[in-house]
Amino acid sequence: MWLRRDDRGQRSATRQGMEDQFNETRFFCETCGKSYKWKESLFKHKRVECGKLPQFTCKVCGYRFMHKHHLVKHLTSIHRIAPLNGTSMLIFQ
Ligand SMILES: [Zn+2]
Ligand SMILES: [Zn+2]
Repeated sequence: MWLRRDDRGQRSATRQGMEDQFNETRFFCETCGKSYKWKESLFKHKRVECGKLPQFTCKVCGYRFMHKHHLVKHLTSIHRIAPLNGTSMLIFQ
């Protein structure tokens, strides 16, 4: 791909279009299939979103939580369930 940066004149629109086509590289998450334009976005997705979504599910109402302590707080405050040993089966699938 040879692009001259010094003549952004009349042909710049066409060149820009071609450039976009060539740069249409997408990064796919092999886990969920989501695609991202930037590798960094995919890394961030894998780190904070992917695989963490269904981790902690409230068995009472089906609400999902990213962190265990969120679910524990939810169970205690919403469902009045104390985080004892017996409730571990409510927390983990
Ligand atoms: Zn994913
Ligand atoms: Zn709940």
